Amino acid sequence: MTEKTATQNCLNCKRSENEIPLVTLRYSEKPMFICSHCLPMLIHHPETLIGKFEGAENIPPAEHHD
Ligand SMILES: [Zn+2]
Repeated sequence: MTEKTATQNCLNCKRSENEIPLVTLRYSEKPMFICSHCLPMLIHHPETLIGKFEGAENIPPAEHHD
């Protein structure tokens, strides 16, 4: 039997890859998935994702260019 890959969900909003494009990330040697809607949050406001995944509190926010 062929093993089917489980449907993945965004680590933040929990929407599935069937609803919205998910970006695959690797962090702390583990894969994780975030959707295109939540990706900017990870880049600019990673502190809002603390508690969503392990080590989120260690990610520095990108520089702002206002
Ligand atoms: Zn999301």
